[in-house]
Amino acid sequence: MKRIRIVISCIALLLMLSSCSDQGSFEDATTALPWEAEATASTEESAKHNESSTSTENSGGIESNASEVVSASTDSSMSPGEEHTEFDPYYEETSEEYPFHQEGYPAPEDWPERYPHGSAGRLEGTIAVVSIFADDQFGTWDATDQKNRARNSRAYYDLRLACDFLTTESAKYDKTVSFLWDWMEHSELYYEADLKAVNLANVLYDYGTIDQMIWTFIEQNVDSEGIRKRYQADSVIYMVYANSPADMNGPSCTRNFYLGMEYPYEICYIQMNQNDRETPPSVFAHEMLHTFGAPDIYWTDIYTNYRLEYGITKDYVKQINKNGLNDIMRITWDPKTGKYLYHSIAQEITDITAYYVGLTDESETVKKWGFEPSQHAQQ
Ligand SMILES: [Zn+2]
Repeated sequence: MKRIRIVISCIALLLMLSSCSDQGSFEDATTALPWEAEATASTEESAKHNESSTSTENSGGIESNASEVVSASTDSSMSPGEEHTEFDPYYEETSEEYPFHQEGYPAPEDWPERYPHGSAGRLEGTIAVVSIFADDQFGTWDATDQKNRARNSRAYYDLRLACDFLTTESAKYDKTVSFLWDWMEHSELYYEADLKAVNLANVLYDYGTIDQMIWTFIEQNVDSEGIRKRYQADSVIYMVYANSPADMNGPSCTRNFYLGMEYPYEICYIQMNQNDRETPPSVFAHEMLHTFGAPDIYWTDIYTNYRLEYGITKDYVKQINKNGLNDIMRITWDPKTGKYLYHSIAQEITDITAYYVGLTDESETVKKWGFEPSQHAQQ
């Protein structure tokens, strides 16, 4: 049952967020090409966001926010996609070079002992991030379409921001964390997968099938042990990007470790668009933290039948909603405006999240509220 609860816990956040974010679009993605960097955060884009945003209160409105999702799903104010003319060196240079090894790379049989919490352990040391661009039933990454290329670049940009954020926040706890994520530098971190048999937006309901497909893909194509060895990586995490159509409302979520998991691979499923909104870098960081053990610390009606992890209570969530705790596991939008940010991350890793990802060995919050120990506490 833990497995189901974990998936849902991640999903619910983004269902909630979908009513609290900017309107993103393909056009936005082109302004974020990695080679153009922050300088292209144009006022035009900001103005567009301001016009179309469905800003809502960032705290204290969790449950009502969640309920707004239904009406938000009929929102059709997304700008039509435009043809993009930016040169995208990524596809020019590497689209034919990603490795595809038919022979397979099965996980070592003793992985449960070696990686007792899955492929991601504590948030510390060197962390390799494998990126998998997955074609599914409703969205492909066909590189001849410039919109797809722009979105691929958006993922690159967002992943970099998320990794930088996690490194910077970890340093506040005197921990050195470095991410190896740049697939332009290391082609073995980049893959393309055919998942046309499934709809990735349905991962909440179809996780058994989809997890299995991705795990099998990883076994067949990704030399995870080689990556660990070559980069002396302490952890490996896997990002799966869905090129979600504008009318898709599938939330991002994470397959994090649970006891009895068949494979060690921990996977962040990123829907690049949800309900006409481009997914921001903060969501990348939020999902990545799940792989290291971070629980969600928000509450929605969806928890009627599922409890939060580690014994975290609704009373606690009510309190942090009231005081506006700016933890990335609670909110992923700008707390000042209620809008998604596309060129920065406004959150922090506060003491509760730091503890559950292993950045610290204790947390005043966890002690005070009597929550369960971190998975890293016994290591
Ligand atoms: Zn989550």
